[in-house]
Amino acid sequence: MAVLARRKSRQVMVGHVAIGGDAPIIVQSMTNTDTADAQSTVRQVAELARAGSEIVRITVNSPEAAAQVATIREKLDAMGCDVPLVGDFHFNGHRLLKQYPECAEALAKYRINPGNVGHGKKRDDQFSTMIEAACRYAKPVRIGVNWGSLDPELLARMMDENARSAEPLDAAGIMREALIASALESAAQAVQWGLPAERIAISCKVSGVQDLIAVYRELARRCDYALHLGLTEAGMGSKGIVASSAAMGILLQEGIGDTIRVSLTPEPNGDRTREVIVAQELLQTMGLRSFTPLVTACPGCGRTTSTYFQELADKIQGYLRAQMPIWKAAHPGVEEMKVAVMGCVVNGPGESKHADIGISLPGTNEVPVAPVYVDGEKTVTLKGGRIAEEFQAIVAGYVEKRYGQGGRGPAPRPGAQRPASIPIKAV
Ligand code: SF4
Repeated sequence: MAVLARRKSRQVMVGHVAIGGDAPIIVQSMTNTDTADAQSTVRQVAELARAGSEIVRITVNSPEAAAQVATIREKLDAMGCDVPLVGDFHFNGHRLLKQYPECAEALAKYRINPGNVGHGKKRDDQFSTMIEAACRYAKPVRIGVNWGSLDPELLARMMDENARSAEPLDAAGIMREALIASALESAAQAVQWGLPAERIAISCKVSGVQDLIAVYRELARRCDYALHLGLTEAGMGSKGIVASSAAMGILLQEGIGDTIRVSLTPEPNGDRTREVIVAQELLQTMGLRSFTPLVTACPGCGRTTSTYFQELADKIQGYLRAQMPIWKAAHPGVEEMKVAVMGCVVNGPGESKHADIGISLPGTNEVPVAPVYVDGEKTVTLKGGRIAEEFQAIVAGYVEKRYGQGGRGPAPRPGAQRPASIPIKAV
Protein backbone atom coordinates (compact mmCIF):
# COMPACT_ATOMS: atom_id res chain seq x y z
CA MET A 1 0.00 0.00 0.00
CA ALA A 2 1.36 3.41 -0.93
CA VAL A 3 1.74 6.20 1.58
CA LEU A 4 -1.31 8.46 1.39
CA ALA A 5 -0.84 12.02 0.17
CA ARG A 6 0.53 14.37 2.80
CA ARG A 7 -2.11 16.37 4.60
CA LYS A 8 -1.97 19.99 3.43
CA SER A 9 -0.59 22.19 6.18
CA ARG A 10 0.57 25.77 6.49
CA GLN A 11 4.32 26.06 6.15
CA VAL A 12 6.23 27.42 9.14
CA MET A 13 9.80 28.71 8.80
CA VAL A 14 12.02 27.82 11.75
CA GLY A 15 15.14 29.80 10.95
CA HIS A 16 16.13 28.50 7.49
CA VAL A 17 14.24 25.20 7.93
CA ALA A 18 10.70 24.84 6.58
CA ILE A 19 8.15 22.68 8.36
CA GLY A 20 4.88 21.71 6.69
CA GLY A 21 3.54 22.66 3.29
CA ASP A 22 5.56 20.85 0.66
CA ALA A 23 8.71 20.64 2.79
CA PRO A 24 10.13 17.20 3.63
CA ILE A 25 9.27 15.75 7.02
CA ILE A 26 11.84 17.30 9.34
CA VAL A 27 13.76 15.36 12.00
CA GLN A 28 14.28 17.15 15.28
CA SER A 29 15.67 16.32 18.69
CA MET A 30 16.28 17.80 22.12
CA THR A 31 19.36 18.16 24.27
CA ASN A 32 19.54 16.83 27.83
CA THR A 33 22.34 19.12 29.00
CA ASP A 34 21.92 22.01 31.41
CA THR A 35 21.53 24.99 29.08
CA ALA A 36 23.31 27.16 31.65
CA ASP A 37 26.37 25.03 30.81
CA ALA A 38 26.94 26.56 27.39
CA GLN A 39 29.93 24.43 26.52
CA SER A 40 28.20 21.08 27.08
CA THR A 41 25.08 22.29 25.33
CA VAL A 42 27.01 23.51 22.28
CA ARG A 43 28.81 20.16 22.12
CA GLN A 44 25.58 18.16 22.25
CA VAL A 45 23.69 20.39 19.82
CA ALA A 46 26.57 20.01 17.36
CA GLU A 47 26.56 16.22 17.82
CA LEU A 48 22.81 16.04 17.24
CA ALA A 49 23.09 18.26 14.16
CA ARG A 50 25.99 16.17 12.84
CA ALA A 51 23.86 13.05 13.30
CA GLY A 52 21.17 14.67 11.15
CA SER A 53 18.90 16.59 13.49
CA GLU A 54 17.56 19.49 11.41
CA ILE A 55 16.23 21.43 14.41
CA VAL A 56 17.40 21.12 18.01
CA ARG A 57 15.41 22.11 21.10
CA ILE A 58 17.06 23.23 24.30
CA THR A 59 15.39 23.80 27.64
CA VAL A 60 15.24 27.42 28.79
CA ASN A 61 14.19 26.94 32.36
CA SER A 62 16.04 29.56 34.39
CA PRO A 63 17.66 33.01 34.15
CA GLU A 64 21.05 31.27 34.04
CA ALA A 65 19.93 29.18 31.06
CA ALA A 66 18.35 32.14 29.25
CA ALA A 67 21.54 34.15 29.77
CA GLN A 68 23.54 31.53 27.84
CA VAL A 69 21.31 31.08 24.81
CA ALA A 70 22.85 33.84 22.68
CA THR A 71 26.34 32.58 23.53
CA ILE A 72 25.34 29.05 22.52
CA ARG A 73 24.06 30.38 19.20
CA GLU A 74 27.26 32.36 18.60
CA LYS A 75 29.49 29.40 19.37
CA LEU A 76 27.52 27.13 17.05
CA ASP A 77 27.68 29.71 14.27
CA ALA A 78 31.42 30.03 14.78
CA MET A 79 31.70 26.24 14.32
CA GLY A 80 29.69 26.45 11.09
CA CYS A 81 26.68 24.74 12.70
CA ASP A 82 23.57 26.64 11.63
CA VAL A 83 20.97 24.26 13.07
CA PRO A 84 17.98 26.30 14.34
CA LEU A 85 17.53 26.31 18.12
CA VAL A 86 14.11 26.05 19.74
CA GLY A 87 13.61 27.23 23.31
CA ASP A 88 11.50 24.98 25.53
CA PHE A 89 9.61 27.14 28.01
CA HIS A 90 7.51 26.14 31.01
CA PHE A 91 6.17 28.22 33.94
CA ASN A 92 8.50 31.23 33.58
CA GLY A 93 8.85 31.70 29.82
CA HIS A 94 6.98 35.02 29.92
CA ARG A 95 9.59 36.44 32.33
CA LEU A 96 12.61 34.96 30.60
CA LEU A 97 11.63 36.14 27.12
CA LYS A 98 11.07 39.65 28.49
CA GLN A 99 14.17 39.86 30.68
CA TYR A 100 16.56 38.24 28.17
CA PRO A 101 15.89 39.86 24.79
CA GLU A 102 19.10 38.42 23.36
CA CYS A 103 17.75 34.94 24.19
CA ALA A 104 14.42 35.76 22.52
CA GLU A 105 16.34 36.95 19.47
CA ALA A 106 18.79 34.02 19.26
CA LEU A 107 16.11 31.33 19.32
CA ALA A 108 14.47 30.30 16.04
CA LYS A 109 11.23 29.14 17.67
CA TYR A 110 9.57 29.10 21.08
CA ARG A 111 7.86 26.00 22.39
CA ILE A 112 4.98 27.02 24.65
CA ASN A 113 3.11 24.47 26.74
CA PRO A 114 -0.36 25.95 27.32
CA GLY A 115 -0.75 23.77 30.42
CA ASN A 116 2.29 25.39 32.03
CA VAL A 117 1.87 29.11 31.34
CA GLY A 118 -0.08 29.93 34.51
CA HIS A 119 -3.56 29.71 35.96
CA GLY A 120 -6.66 31.92 36.10
CA LYS A 121 -6.23 35.49 34.85
CA LYS A 122 -2.46 35.13 35.02
CA ARG A 123 -2.63 32.42 32.41
CA ASP A 124 -3.80 34.72 29.62
CA ASP A 125 -1.46 37.54 30.65
CA GLN A 126 1.56 35.27 30.73
CA PHE A 127 0.65 33.46 27.53
CA SER A 128 0.04 36.76 25.71
CA THR A 129 3.42 38.05 26.91
CA MET A 130 5.09 35.10 25.19
CA ILE A 131 3.07 35.61 22.03
CA GLU A 132 4.02 39.31 22.09
CA ALA A 133 7.68 38.28 22.19
CA ALA A 134 7.11 35.96 19.21
CA CYS A 135 5.48 38.84 17.30
CA ARG A 136 8.20 41.34 18.29
CA TYR A 137 11.06 39.06 17.24
CA ALA A 138 9.19 37.53 14.28
CA LYS A 139 9.53 33.99 15.63
CA PRO A 140 7.24 31.00 15.19
CA VAL A 141 5.89 29.08 18.17
CA ARG A 142 4.93 25.50 18.79
CA ILE A 143 1.85 25.16 20.93
CA GLY A 144 3.04 21.98 22.56
CA VAL A 145 0.37 20.27 24.66
CA ASN A 146 1.34 17.28 26.75
CA TRP A 147 -1.10 15.08 28.59
CA GLY A 148 1.22 15.08 31.60
CA SER A 149 0.71 18.81 32.01
CA LEU A 150 -2.75 19.37 30.57
CA ASP A 151 -4.41 22.65 31.63
CA PRO A 152 -6.43 21.53 34.72
CA GLU A 153 -9.01 24.31 34.36
CA LEU A 154 -9.72 23.36 30.78
CA LEU A 155 -10.03 19.69 31.71
CA ALA A 156 -12.43 20.49 34.60
CA ARG A 157 -14.55 22.67 32.31
CA MET A 158 -14.75 19.96 29.68
CA MET A 159 -15.62 17.29 32.24
CA ASP A 160 -18.50 19.46 33.47
CA GLU A 161 -19.74 19.99 29.93
CA ASN A 162 -19.40 16.29 29.24
CA ALA A 163 -21.44 15.40 32.31
CA ARG A 164 -24.30 17.53 30.96
CA SER A 165 -24.00 16.10 27.45
CA ALA A 166 -26.69 13.75 26.06
CA GLU A 167 -23.92 11.50 24.73
CA PRO A 168 -21.06 11.78 27.21
CA LEU A 169 -17.57 10.58 26.28
CA ASP A 170 -15.62 8.15 28.43
CA ALA A 171 -12.65 9.40 30.48
CA ALA A 172 -10.12 8.63 27.72
CA GLY A 173 -12.30 10.40 25.18
CA ILE A 174 -12.49 13.53 27.36
CA MET A 175 -8.74 13.52 27.84
CA ARG A 176 -8.18 13.38 24.10
CA GLU A 177 -10.72 16.13 23.46
CA ALA A 178 -9.13 18.29 26.14
CA LEU A 179 -5.69 17.91 24.53
CA ILE A 180 -7.02 18.94 21.15
CA ALA A 181 -9.07 21.81 22.59
CA SER A 182 -6.08 23.09 24.56
CA ALA A 183 -3.96 23.21 21.40
CA LEU A 184 -6.59 24.70 19.10
CA GLU A 185 -7.97 27.24 21.59
CA SER A 186 -4.44 28.39 22.46
CA ALA A 187 -3.54 28.69 18.78
CA ALA A 188 -6.71 30.72 18.17
CA GLN A 189 -5.77 33.04 21.05
CA ALA A 190 -2.27 33.49 19.62
CA VAL A 191 -3.74 34.41 16.23
CA GLN A 192 -6.12 36.85 17.95
CA TRP A 193 -3.13 38.49 19.65
CA GLY A 194 -1.47 39.03 16.30
CA LEU A 195 0.67 35.95 15.59
CA PRO A 196 0.13 34.84 11.97
CA ALA A 197 -1.19 31.28 11.60
CA GLU A 198 1.87 30.60 9.40
CA ARG A 199 4.00 30.95 12.49
CA ILE A 200 2.23 28.29 14.53
CA ALA A 201 2.94 24.57 14.75
CA ILE A 202 1.04 22.27 17.05
CA SER A 203 1.70 19.12 18.99
CA CYS A 204 -0.44 17.05 21.37
CA LYS A 205 1.80 14.44 22.91
CA VAL A 206 0.65 11.41 24.85
CA SER A 207 2.49 8.25 25.82
CA GLY A 208 -0.07 5.70 24.55
CA VAL A 209 0.14 4.53 20.95
CA GLN A 210 -3.61 4.33 20.31
CA ASP A 211 -4.21 7.68 22.04
CA LEU A 212 -1.59 9.37 19.87
CA ILE A 213 -3.10 7.98 16.68
CA ALA A 214 -6.63 9.05 17.67
CA VAL A 215 -5.57 12.55 18.78
CA TYR A 216 -3.52 13.34 15.67
CA ARG A 217 -6.14 12.00 13.28
CA GLU A 218 -8.58 14.39 14.87
CA LEU A 219 -6.11 17.30 14.91
CA ALA A 220 -5.37 16.70 11.23
CA ARG A 221 -9.08 16.80 10.47
CA ARG A 222 -9.77 19.98 12.42
CA CYS A 223 -6.90 22.30 11.51
CA ASP A 224 -4.26 23.06 8.92
CA TYR A 225 -1.45 24.01 11.28
CA ALA A 226 1.85 22.22 10.77
CA LEU A 227 1.93 19.18 13.08
CA HIS A 228 4.88 18.14 15.21
CA LEU A 229 4.60 14.42 15.80
CA GLY A 230 5.98 12.50 18.72
CA LEU A 231 5.10 10.00 21.39
CA THR A 232 6.01 11.53 24.72
CA GLU A 233 7.91 9.52 27.32
CA ALA A 234 8.27 6.71 24.77
CA GLY A 235 10.70 4.91 27.08
CA MET A 236 14.04 3.17 26.83
CA GLY A 237 15.61 0.95 24.22
CA SER A 238 13.49 -1.28 22.05
CA LYS A 239 10.25 -0.36 23.86
CA GLY A 240 10.68 3.33 23.04
CA ILE A 241 11.64 2.60 19.46
CA VAL A 242 8.80 0.16 18.86
CA ALA A 243 6.13 2.35 20.47
CA SER A 244 7.28 5.49 18.62
CA SER A 245 7.52 3.67 15.30
CA ALA A 246 4.14 1.96 15.71
CA ALA A 247 2.34 5.23 16.50
CA MET A 248 4.16 7.53 14.13
CA GLY A 249 4.38 4.94 11.35
CA ILE A 250 0.59 4.70 11.13
CA LEU A 251 0.13 8.48 11.15
CA LEU A 252 2.91 9.09 8.62
CA GLN A 253 1.39 6.41 6.39
CA GLU A 254 -1.84 8.44 6.48
CA GLY A 255 0.04 11.60 5.48
CA ILE A 256 -0.12 13.12 8.98
CA GLY A 257 2.96 14.80 10.48
CA ASP A 258 5.31 17.54 9.27
CA THR A 259 8.15 17.10 11.73
CA ILE A 260 8.99 14.25 14.10
CA ARG A 261 10.87 13.68 17.29
CA VAL A 262 11.54 10.27 18.80
CA SER A 263 11.61 10.83 22.57
CA LEU A 264 13.89 8.00 23.65
CA THR A 265 15.15 7.75 27.19
CA PRO A 266 18.90 7.21 26.74
CA GLU A 267 20.62 4.38 28.60
CA PRO A 268 22.82 5.72 31.41
CA ASN A 269 25.68 7.49 29.60
CA GLY A 270 24.00 6.46 26.35
CA ASP A 271 24.30 8.35 23.11
CA ARG A 272 21.70 11.09 22.68
CA THR A 273 22.06 10.93 18.91
CA ARG A 274 20.25 7.59 18.85
CA GLU A 275 16.89 9.38 18.76
CA VAL A 276 17.98 11.14 15.57
CA ILE A 277 19.08 7.91 13.91
CA VAL A 278 15.83 6.16 14.86
CA ALA A 279 13.78 9.07 13.44
CA GLN A 280 15.77 9.00 10.21
CA GLU A 281 15.46 5.23 9.90
CA LEU A 282 11.71 5.42 10.50
CA LEU A 283 11.30 7.91 7.64
CA GLN A 284 13.75 6.09 5.38
CA THR A 285 12.40 2.58 5.85
CA MET A 286 8.93 3.96 5.08
CA GLY A 287 10.23 5.44 1.83
CA LEU A 288 9.48 9.00 2.95
CA ARG A 289 13.02 10.42 2.94
CA SER A 290 16.55 9.17 2.48
CA PHE A 291 19.40 10.09 4.81
CA THR A 292 22.05 7.37 4.80
CA PRO A 293 22.59 4.24 2.73
CA LEU A 294 21.01 1.38 4.68
CA VAL A 295 22.44 -2.08 5.01
CA THR A 296 20.16 -5.06 4.49
CA ALA A 297 21.44 -7.95 6.58
CA CYS A 298 19.97 -11.36 7.22
CA PRO A 299 19.29 -12.33 10.84
CA GLY A 300 21.60 -15.35 10.67
CA CYS A 301 20.56 -18.88 11.54
CA GLY A 302 21.97 -22.37 12.03
CA ARG A 303 23.44 -22.31 8.54
CA THR A 304 26.22 -20.07 9.75
CA THR A 305 28.03 -20.59 13.02
CA SER A 306 30.14 -17.47 12.63
CA THR A 307 29.16 -13.94 13.67
CA TYR A 308 31.44 -12.60 10.98
CA PHE A 309 28.65 -11.41 8.68
CA GLN A 310 26.87 -9.64 11.56
CA GLU A 311 30.09 -7.85 12.46
CA LEU A 312 30.64 -6.97 8.81
CA ALA A 313 27.08 -5.63 8.46
CA ASP A 314 27.56 -3.51 11.57
CA LYS A 315 30.93 -2.28 10.42
CA ILE A 316 29.68 -1.35 6.97
CA GLN A 317 26.61 0.47 8.39
CA GLY A 318 28.88 2.40 10.76
CA TYR A 319 31.24 3.23 7.91
CA LEU A 320 28.40 4.48 5.68
CA ARG A 321 26.98 6.64 8.48
CA ALA A 322 30.38 8.09 9.32
CA GLN A 323 31.03 8.96 5.66
CA MET A 324 27.71 10.75 5.14
CA PRO A 325 28.76 14.23 6.35
CA ILE A 326 31.46 14.15 3.61
CA TRP A 327 29.46 12.28 0.99
CA LYS A 328 26.33 14.41 1.38
CA ALA A 329 27.92 17.31 -0.46
CA ALA A 330 30.26 15.45 -2.80
CA HIS A 331 28.05 12.51 -3.75
CA PRO A 332 24.40 13.55 -3.97
CA GLY A 333 22.02 10.60 -4.15
CA VAL A 334 24.32 8.25 -2.21
CA GLU A 335 21.82 8.30 0.68
CA GLU A 336 19.55 6.10 -1.42
CA MET A 337 22.18 3.43 -2.04
CA LYS A 338 21.25 -0.06 -0.84
CA VAL A 339 23.90 -2.39 0.53
CA ALA A 340 23.35 -6.05 1.44
CA VAL A 341 25.46 -8.17 3.75
CA MET A 342 24.20 -11.75 3.83
CA GLY A 343 25.18 -14.83 5.77
CA CYS A 344 24.97 -17.74 3.32
CA VAL A 345 24.12 -18.97 -0.12
CA VAL A 346 20.37 -19.51 0.60
CA ASN A 347 19.26 -15.87 0.24
CA GLY A 348 22.65 -14.22 -0.04
CA PRO A 349 23.09 -14.00 -3.82
CA GLY A 350 19.41 -13.12 -4.39
CA GLU A 351 19.31 -10.33 -1.80
CA SER A 352 22.71 -9.04 -2.93
CA LYS A 353 21.47 -8.82 -6.51
CA HIS A 354 18.51 -6.71 -5.36
CA ALA A 355 20.86 -4.27 -3.64
CA ASP A 356 23.09 -1.75 -5.41
CA ILE A 357 26.06 -3.54 -3.92
CA GLY A 358 26.00 -6.73 -1.87
CA ILE A 359 28.15 -9.49 -0.49
CA SER A 360 27.16 -13.06 0.29
CA LEU A 361 29.41 -14.55 2.94
CA PRO A 362 30.02 -18.29 3.22
CA GLY A 363 27.82 -20.30 5.59
CA THR A 364 28.86 -23.43 7.46
CA ASN A 365 30.35 -26.09 5.17
CA GLU A 366 30.27 -23.73 2.18
CA VAL A 367 33.39 -22.96 0.16
CA PRO A 368 35.01 -20.06 2.07
CA VAL A 369 34.51 -17.43 -0.61
CA ALA A 370 32.30 -14.32 -0.69
CA PRO A 371 30.91 -13.23 -4.05
CA VAL A 372 30.28 -9.50 -4.44
CA TYR A 373 27.40 -8.24 -6.58
CA VAL A 374 27.34 -4.76 -8.09
CA ASP A 375 24.16 -3.53 -9.77
CA GLY A 376 22.87 -7.09 -9.82
CA GLU A 377 25.97 -8.64 -11.43
CA LYS A 378 28.60 -10.77 -9.73
CA THR A 379 31.85 -8.84 -10.12
CA VAL A 380 34.44 -10.38 -7.84
CA THR A 381 34.82 -13.14 -5.27
CA LEU A 382 36.63 -12.27 -2.05
CA LYS A 383 38.46 -14.74 0.15
CA GLY A 384 41.01 -14.80 2.96
CA GLY A 385 41.30 -12.73 6.09
CA ARG A 386 40.70 -9.26 4.63
CA ILE A 387 37.18 -9.63 3.23
CA ALA A 388 35.82 -6.77 5.38
CA GLU A 389 38.50 -4.28 4.33
CA GLU A 390 38.29 -5.29 0.68
CA PHE A 391 34.49 -5.03 0.63
CA GLN A 392 34.62 -1.59 2.26
CA ALA A 393 37.09 -0.46 -0.41
CA ILE A 394 34.75 -1.78 -3.12
CA VAL A 395 31.84 0.15 -1.56
CA ALA A 396 33.94 3.36 -1.44
CA GLY A 397 34.95 2.90 -5.09
CA TYR A 398 31.34 2.27 -6.09
CA VAL A 399 30.19 5.48 -4.35
CA GLU A 400 32.92 7.47 -6.07
CA LYS A 401 32.08 6.07 -9.48
CA ARG A 402 28.32 6.11 -9.31
CA TYR A 403 27.62 9.21 -7.23
CA GLY A 404 30.69 11.29 -8.01
CA GLN A 405 30.78 13.92 -10.73
CA GLY A 406 29.63 12.35 -13.94
CA GLY A 407 28.20 9.32 -12.13
CA ARG A 408 24.71 8.17 -13.04
CA GLY A 409 23.33 8.79 -9.54
CA PRO A 410 20.55 6.94 -7.77
CA ALA A 411 18.25 4.52 -9.52
CA PRO A 412 14.52 5.19 -9.18
CA ARG A 413 12.90 3.00 -6.54
CA PRO A 414 9.39 1.80 -7.22
CA GLY A 415 6.94 3.12 -4.62
CA ALA A 416 9.41 5.52 -3.00
CA GLN A 417 7.64 8.68 -1.87
CA ARG A 418 9.94 11.62 -2.10
CA PRO A 419 9.03 14.96 -0.58
CA ALA A 420 8.25 17.47 -3.29
CA SER A 421 11.09 19.75 -2.21
CA ILE A 422 13.75 17.05 -2.56
CA PRO A 423 14.74 17.03 -6.21
CA ILE A 424 14.60 13.63 -7.83
CA LYS A 425 17.69 13.22 -9.94
CA ALA A 426 17.26 12.22 -13.53
CA VAL A 427 18.91 8.94 -14.38
S1 SF4 B 1 20.76 -15.98 4.34
FE1 SF4 B 1 21.52 -17.95 5.11
S2 SF4 B 1 22.44 -17.45 7.10
FE2 SF4 B 1 21.14 -15.72 6.57
S3 SF4 B 1 19.20 -16.22 7.57
FE3 SF4 B 1 19.05 -16.92 5.46
S4 SF4 B 1 19.62 -19.08 5.54
FE4 SF4 B 1 20.34 -18.15 7.47
